[in-house]
Order: sequence, then structure tokens, then C-alpha cells
Amino acid sequence: MGTFRQQIATNVLTVTKFRDLLQNMRENRPADDLEIVRKAYDFSQKHHAGQSRASGEPYLVHPLEVALVLAEMKMDPTAIAAGLLHDSVEDTSVTIVDIRKEFGEQVAHIVEGVTKISKIDFATKEEAQAENLRKMMLAMVDDIRVVLIKLADRLHNMRTLEHLAPERQQKIARETLDIYGPIAHSLGMGKIRGELEDLGFRYLDPISYQQVHDAVEARRKVGQQFLDRVANTLREKLKDAGITARVESRTKRLYSIHKKLIRQKISVEQVYDLYAMRVITNSVQDCYAVLGIVHNVWKPVPGRIKDFIAMPRPNFYQSLHTSVITEQGTSFEIQIRTEEMHRTAEEGIAAHWKYKDGPVSAQDEQRLAWLRQVVEWQRDVSDPNEFLSTLKIDLYPEEVYTFTPKGKVVVLPRDSTPIDFAYSVHTEVGHACVGAKVNGRMVPLRHKLHSGDIVEILTQTGHSPSRDWLGIVKSSRARNKIKHWLNIHQRERAVEIGRKLIEKEARKYRIAFKDIKDEDLQRAASDYGLGQIDDLMAGIGYGKFAARQVLAKLTPNATEPPPEEEIEKPGAFTSVVRRVFGGDKHNAIRVKGHGDLLVYRARCCNPIRGEAVVGYVTRGKGVAVHAVSCPNVTNLMYEPERRIDVEWGHEDETPSAYPVKITVFCDDRFGMLKQITAVIGDAKTNIRNLEVRSENGQANVDVVLDIADLKHLENIINGVRKVPGVHDVQRLQKL
Ligand code: MN
Repeated sequence: MGTFRQQIATNVLTVTKFRDLLQNMRENRPADDLEIVRKAYDFSQKHHAGQSRASGEPYLVHPLEVALVLAEMKMDPTAIAAGLLHDSVEDTSVTIVDIRKEFGEQVAHIVEGVTKISKIDFATKEEAQAENLRKMMLAMVDDIRVVLIKLADRLHNMRTLEHLAPERQQKIARETLDIYGPIAHSLGMGKIRGELEDLGFRYLDPISYQQVHDAVEARRKVGQQFLDRVANTLREKLKDAGITARVESRTKRLYSIHKKLIRQKISVEQVYDLYAMRVITNSVQDCYAVLGIVHNVWKPVPGRIKDFIAMPRPNFYQSLHTSVITEQGTSFEIQIRTEEMHRTAEEGIAAHWKYKDGPVSAQDEQRLAWLRQVVEWQRDVSDPNEFLSTLKIDLYPEEVYTFTPKGKVVVLPRDSTPIDFAYSVHTEVGHACVGAKVNGRMVPLRHKLHSGDIVEILTQTGHSPSRDWLGIVKSSRARNKIKHWLNIHQRERAVEIGRKLIEKEARKYRIAFKDIKDEDLQRAASDYGLGQIDDLMAGIGYGKFAARQVLAKLTPNATEPPPEEEIEKPGAFTSVVRRVFGGDKHNAIRVKGHGDLLVYRARCCNPIRGEAVVGYVTRGKGVAVHAVSCPNVTNLMYEPERRIDVEWGHEDETPSAYPVKITVFCDDRFGMLKQITAVIGDAKTNIRNLEVRSENGQANVDVVLDIADLKHLENIINGVRKVPGVHDVQRLQKL
């Protein structure tokens, strides 16, 4: 008889939920015919009968809860029916054919999509994960409702995760944070994303979760009183100004607090927006008016004003953000947005959903276009890992919002450097960039920028970009500009070298190069399939063509061999190159099995004895030896056949010291320089050059040292780091 009682309890529970669902739908979409939803409920009830979830509840509760989430998204009856049926094919004897017969093509198509995604295992190797993500993206493009049902499904599963075994909990939580959170984010669905992430965080990292949770709870009462006070002040001021707006207070999401703590290496006390206010206005104009009023009442925290109205995030999020500080020194964040922006921020693609007519807003169109494009781009990528990494960039469009000293916002990809910043200001600023100050402090060029940083670029006229910047920059703009510059200037140098080589060759035949006519040069260039004389010269400079062969084409006299002693020895060519590259002093690096190759230390990294090195056969310039850690090595190794093993020669063959430049970032205080030089002197090290720049109490000291080997350098760097007031010491790869 127990089962009978159970049966009644089940009915009461599910019938109540179903009534809620219908009521919700009637309110949101009064014109809709709900017949298909009723039918789906009956069908689902019949086929899930007797099944229960890990919680002990009847299984039917799950599809009902999923349908309720969808109803809150204001989804259409087709989607809600599909939501009620979403597990029926997987977990009961029902087939897709049955669904199609009962509910028609659309519902069947969506249920099929959800079933397919459910079979995907994301917690596998990267490769499989990439392939699975690709399937998911395809399903999204096919019918976005598939993904919305999947998100609702995941949300209810996360809400009831406590009933599963710990191992399953971990796996599902990980998947939620890795896949479903970012997808909700990219669809602009802030509310669902927030809940998914907090739940994922709670199961994946219970200790940190508890810490953040407790810290927030401990402050809740005081925080709430504070927010109430602040909200009242603000309401009064808005009333005085004649602005109608809703003022809400809120505590930030635990997972986003946690991420902030990790990212900025700070404690809970230092989070600006633990307390947050939201002002929701009727117009964009009012948003800016409110911002003005806020800054009149409280002092803004410098660099924390973000205008996402003028510059929406990639997922179309719009709002004004500012952090302000009270007279008592408590800081809090205020977000200001219109009702419309608020809905978009919370619901994203579901904000204006009327599926029957297709996507309604231009934003929805763009979101779908974005999805289609991602799939389109990825279709031809055969390497799943490459697919995953490109996709991650698109799914996690995390950016840093930085400011010029005048307060202009500069949006850059995460981990961008001052060089990226400089190039986004202006190409010439990028080329001439020699240093930067972040929030008033000097930083190295490879320094990673954070949101809210105020960046000032220091330039020097005539300064030029270096190849190793390619390994540092994150924005494609900077990368392209640098590459472009290098291409042009490398070519210029090659043209110059080519011209010198052919002049030299001509002299051997007692021909003055200037007597050779341009038409002849042009003809020779054409013979090589080149358009211009400079192309030919560059070809010689790069070592593609031999100077003698070119000369033979130009003048018949040159076909006779020159007097024996003047035949070009290998050294003749290399001496030009050595002069250009200054490689003759420090080339005691042995190339395995190639005793007489020209070898030079790459200027981009200037490797020193003891460092792991790798050789690279250049076009006509011998072997460049790079430190294995040199960022250029990765770029160069696209042609592995040009890679060559190199090793350091015996100590007595190599120079006893190499010049190495280091930069010391330190306080500008009395006696600092003396202490730094004392450390260097104690290590019996020669200082070749020393330069100091200082401003606002901070100093940069550039020192060029004679360094015997890596150990020697490390000793000095570690020693200088111990000097009080020294923040960092970095080796500069270039001299
Ligand atoms: Mn489900």
C-alpha cells in the first residue's frame, strides 16, 4: 500500500508543478496554444512512470523543473514541450520516431539534438573534448532551443547535485564550469551563468567556496545596512534631480569574487565590489546623468569607470560601471543601465525570444551569426587541439579594460602588454615604445596589464620594434604591425647586403657596378621572374641567388674566371655578413659536425654560456644560435629541417665574458645605487654601462655587465633582488 500513497504524493507534487508551468506560460505568452505542452506532460508522465531520481523524487519532477526554467526564459510551447520530453528517448523505451509521430518534426528535431548532446562526454581528453564542443556548436547553429534546453537541464541537475556520488559531482561540476558557464556567457545569459558557476564552484572547490561564502556572510548584516543607507542617499539625490530609476542592492556572485581574489592576488577585504548597487533607468541619457550624480556624492576610485554602453562587451552586455568610495573609506560598485540593458544582461539571447518569428532583435541575429561563424571557421581545422584553442578564445572573450592617462578606454585581450597598448593607440607610438608606466609606476615591456590600469607609454623617436616583441604581444593588431615593420626593414637590409655583394663581385672582374645599366639589371631581374631590381638585390642578400651568376647574366666579360687569387673564398661572403651582424667576436659556439659554418649569437636573446641553446640555419647568414627560451625559437621552428644542434665550445675557446643587460626596478632612495653596485662588485663583475631613470619615487636601473655564464648571472640577479627596495630584476635579451 506504500506505493499507492507514494503515487498520490507524486501526483500532488507533479500536478502542482505542472499547474505552475501553465500559469507561468499564460502570463508570459497569453496568445499561445498550450495544447502541445499538455500532451507532452501526459506523454512524459506515462513513460517516466515508476522512475525516480537519485534524490528519491519521481523522475517526472526533473523534466517539469527544466520546463519551468524554460518558461521563465519565456520560451515558446514547442521548446517547453521538447523540454518536458528531453529525457524520454534516452531514459525510456520511447524512440525519436514515436516523438515525431506524436509531436511533429520540430519537437522531434529538438529532442534529438538534446539527446545527442547528452551523450557527449566532455570530461575526456582535450582532443575528444574539442570534437564534442564542435558537435555542440553545430547543434546550436541548428536550433538554438537545443542549447537552451540543455542549459536548463544542466541548471536543474546542478541544483540537485547533492544527491550524487562525490566523483560524479566533481565531473559534472567541472564540465559546468568549463563548458556550460562559458556558453551561457557567450549567449549573454548572465543569470543562468551566475547560478551555474556558483554551483559548479561549490562542488569543485568546496574549501574556497566555504571561505568566500563565510567572508561574505560575516559581512552581510553590516553590508546590508550599509547598502540600505547608500541606496537611500542615492534615491534622494535622484529624486532631487528628477530622475526616475530603480535602485537595487546586491552581493556579488561568490564565484566571481573568488576569481577576482585569485586573479588579483588579494583578500576579500580588498574586493571593491563585494557590495554592489544597481541603478536601472528609463533611458541611456539618464544612465549618464546618474553616473554624474553618483560621482558628485561619492569619490570615484580612479581607473574603475567602465563604459560598456558606448562599448558593449562581445556578448552585447551593456552597462556603466563605477567604483566609488565613501567618506568612511568603504568602496562599492555601482552598475547603471536601462531596463532593456538589464534584461539583456540577465537573459541574453532569451531576452526577446519569440521563436515563431525567428530571432527578433539585431543582437540576436548577431549572436547567431557569431555561432555560425565559429562553426564555419572551425569546419576546416583538422587538428582538434587547434580547434579547441581557437574556440576557447571565442568562448572566453576575456578582455582587459585599460585607460590612457586622459581616461580613454583601451580594450585589449587578456594578458596584453604595454606594447599592445601602444599599438592600439597608434602604430607610430607602438614602433617608438621604449617603456611604460602603469598606475604611475615603471614596468617592464612584458608586464601584463589588468583591467583598470592607467597606462602611459614612453616613446623615443627613431626607436624601432624588435622581433622578440612577437613573443610578448597578445593583440593581433600589434602582432601584424610589428611583422609588417620587420618585413619591410629586413628587406631593406637584404637589398643593401645584396647590392654590396654584387659590387664586390663586380670589382673582381674590374667592372664598376655603376657602369651596369638599369635596363640590364631589370632584364636580369625578369630572368629570375622578379619584378624589380630591388627584388633581385634582396634575393642576393637573402642568399637565394649567387652574386656571380647574376653578374654573369649582366656582363659577358664576367664569364671568364677572374685571376686565381681573387676567386671568392667562403670567407669573403661571410665577412660581409659578419660585419653586418657583428658576429665575429662571440661565435665560439660549436655546431655539431659542421666545423666551419658561420655561427653567431642571435641578437634577440644573446644566449650566454650555460644556457640551453638551439641553432637555426638562416638564409645565407650562417647559423643563428638562440636560447631555447627565446620567444623567436617557437616562430622559427616552423621549418624543423633548418634546426641544427649546437653546443658551447670549450671554455678556453669562448670569450671569457659576454655583455648582458639587466634592469633593476626599485625605489628611488638614497644609497640604492651604492648597494646595487656593491652586490655586483662583490661578485667581481665588470660594469660596462649604467643608466638610471627615475620618477615619482621609482627608479629603473639599466646595467650592462660582463657575464661569464648563466650561473654567474643568476648569482648577481639573486643578490640584487635581496637589496631592500628592489622590486624586481630582469634580464633584457637585447643589449
Ligand atoms: Mn535531463
